[in-house]
Amino acid sequence: MKTFIAVCGLALSFSALASPHWEYSGEAGPEHWAELAPEFAACHAQNQSPVNLTGTVKSDLKPFHITYAAGAENMVNNGHTLQVNYAPGSKIDVDGMPFELKQFHFHTPGENQIEGKSFPMEIHFVHANSKGELTVLAVMVKEGKANPTLAKLWKEMPKTGETVTYDQKINAKDLLPANLHYYRFSGSLTTPPCTEGVRWLVLKNQITASHEQIQAFTTLMGHPNNRPVQPINAREVLKD
Ligand SMILES: [Zn+2]
Repeated sequence: MKTFIAVCGLALSFSALASPHWEYSGEAGPEHWAELAPEFAACHAQNQSPVNLTGTVKSDLKPFHITYAAGAENMVNNGHTLQVNYAPGSKIDVDGMPFELKQFHFHTPGENQIEGKSFPMEIHFVHANSKGELTVLAVMVKEGKANPTLAKLWKEMPKTGETVTYDQKINAKDLLPANLHYYRFSGSLTTPPCTEGVRWLVLKNQITASHEQIQAFTTLMGHPNNRPVQPINAREVLKD
């Protein structure tokens, strides 16, 4: 028995070193993230995501350019979300710099709010430039017609810790609305370590998914996977 406990303790401390455990509720929930580990301290910082996009300021934001190829390689269920990992070669140009699409993933309900309105689902397209800076493009999903691209992705949904690989690569562009008008603000990762300095572009227009498609994701996760909205503090939210 003694040995068993020792081994367990060892395993626990190793996994804690690798990646401290966090959740969306309870003692390891969002209000405690900053205290779970020193590297999560930013979760209590001043420029956190998500936010309620309100009091937005009209400005001359330039349209951004997206060059996505069909590159969805696989989808992993990491227990916090379904994450679709993307092949190199797809990018978004922001501030005159290319940011490569690394992955996209899902939250239900949505995380950012638009004028106080919450959507049943939100997709985050995560991009990085050569300096490791991040741009997240967010699109809200509202309930409506079934989404054909989601239908392909949802065909086989991996259980926690599992990965599904795609033979036919899906293009992330098929999950974006035609109209790319957007809000912009400076924020953070919405999961630990809550790193700040992330460029956030939130599309004003939504895409649709059927009630069943949204429900399939909610059921698979078994819990909401949205961080509550964070104070805007000194930030401005711009709109084009
Ligand atoms: Zn996200």
